[in-house]
Amino acid sequence: RETMPDNFIDDIIRKDLETGWCTTVHTRFPPEPNGYLHIGHAKSIVLNFSLAEKYGGTCNLRFDDTNPEKETEEYVRAIMEDVRWLGFDWGDRLYFASDYFDRMYELAVRLIKEGKAYVDHSTPEEISRMRGVPTEPGIPSPYRDRSVEENLELFEKMRRGEFEEGECVLRAKIDMSSPNMHLRDPVMYRIRKVSHYRQGDRWCIYPTYDWAHGLEDAFEGITHSICTLEFEVHRPLYDWFLDQIPDLPHPKQIEFARLNLTHTVMSKRLLTQLVQEGHVDGWDDPRLPTIAGLRRRGFTPSSIRTFCYRIGVSKVESVVDMAFLEAVIREELNKTAPRRMAVLEPVKLVITNYPEDQVEWLEAENNPEDPSAGTRLIPFCRELYIEREDFMEDPPPKYYRLAPGREVRLKHAYIIRCEEVVKDEAGNIVEIRCTYDPETRSGGRRSDRKVKATLHWVSARHGFRAQVRLYDRLFTKEDPTDVEEGKTFLDYINPDSLVILEDAVLEPSLEHVEAGENYQFLRKGYFCLDSKYSTPERLVFNRTVTLKDEWER
Ligand code: ATP
Ligand code: MG
Ligand code: MG
Repeated sequence: RETMPDNFIDDIIRKDLETGWCTTVHTRFPPEPNGYLHIGHAKSIVLNFSLAEKYGGTCNLRFDDTNPEKETEEYVRAIMEDVRWLGFDWGDRLYFASDYFDRMYELAVRLIKEGKAYVDHSTPEEISRMRGVPTEPGIPSPYRDRSVEENLELFEKMRRGEFEEGECVLRAKIDMSSPNMHLRDPVMYRIRKVSHYRQGDRWCIYPTYDWAHGLEDAFEGITHSICTLEFEVHRPLYDWFLDQIPDLPHPKQIEFARLNLTHTVMSKRLLTQLVQEGHVDGWDDPRLPTIAGLRRRGFTPSSIRTFCYRIGVSKVESVVDMAFLEAVIREELNKTAPRRMAVLEPVKLVITNYPEDQVEWLEAENNPEDPSAGTRLIPFCRELYIEREDFMEDPPPKYYRLAPGREVRLKHAYIIRCEEVVKDEAGNIVEIRCTYDPETRSGGRRSDRKVKATLHWVSARHGFRAQVRLYDRLFTKEDPTDVEEGKTFLDYINPDSLVILEDAVLEPSLEHVEAGENYQFLRKGYFCLDSKYSTPERLVFNRTVTLKDEWER
């Protein structure tokens, strides 16, 4: 199977293998279970698992669950499901950072004993004030030079819950005048009297990312710890902590540019807000860039992997156009999706010269891009539905579809001619009356007669009603986090991002489709069954993408 194309990380790893810095490659994907995975995470998953695959190594799935506040078992389950669905297998290498809390605590005690960490009673504001600004040395905390004995005792008390939240923290004693602010005595532990979803109330002190993450990597024997660019400035700290513990392996941190996409948000904080405040229909809303949302929308695992291979990995921040993600799934489904006919906004069409009781089962190819996909039979009779927009009583120039007196072809069937329009009292068109030319059946003797349009249709006697959901970008603004004065990102939600059509009519073969299958509805785009709202009595379909990029305008 394909892997991530070679990039600067491959150069580093090949060199590390050549020089013997490492003999195997061991990566990890380390999500925090405080939300669902999104397409940005997919990039990291594909990258980490690809590297392991390319160099015959292994990749861990590690839950970086060191913050008790927002982490839940539900997120753990959802993340595992999504990684598996994307096609990656961590085998027996499933880890939880919270399982290391005892070891981390012991190592913190060791640093205290070596005079490299201290308990600080300053408030967060005082700590930040004393850190100062990068261009000038900071001010050492008045607690910085406490004795080892006192620090050991205070840290033990912190662990036993004898201090309140915010009363004190454990800090590493590094360098209060470093130009890198992260080295100005970073916090290692803070007090949080909150239950942890796995550890319960065993702990009331929790390690910070900087202290915990390198240890997690080292405990697991990770060789290359890949993270996003914002951690580049943390790297000296990652290395400092591991340098203090020479008996542990020392993984190499490598940073790459995160994936940014237009017309959406990918910060977990903002995604959580959209979900919790009900702006969207849960984490799997098909408009979200979450893996669960993309799955419900009809994206396939291979399309997401292909997207990740194509955007590439680099050190330079960039923003990928949403249209590119859509182009990738469109290209895949064009090759693989069986074609079907569905009329989304129907109007009745009667063929007056077609025998009343006759039904013909016409053969239709399933996929012109793939002859091996075979054919199916679709019923044709006197009463059909066509798309309301495919008929105009007074067509403007360049409108070539059906109009009074005009001929069009019905796909896989006959050429018809519009003879008459029936309206209700309000003047709405309720029926289009046509005649057909029996000689023009597709594949028949006079099937090559030229007309300017071919329409899709569904037999009114055989088709079934379904709900169809059309999606558009969730935000009208390319970067909804770039907010104008007095607004929030919520002000840029696209009010037309979901359109629900209640009366679509679908060809009968669509009655037995399953979630996870993709179909092209001729002329209308790619669709799949909605896994959330479909019932056997009423099927609901989601449009994955249109046939063409409608944003090119
Ligand atoms: P947020 O910043 O919104 O809280 P996060 O990055 O902290 O999200 P994590 O669960 O910590 O979310 O991420 C797990 C892994 O996925 C990390 O290694 C992170 O670098 C990577 N990752 C997260 N977002 C992206 C992205 N947009 N592009 C590439 N990798 C990403
Ligand atoms: Mg985070
Ligand atoms: Mg993170």
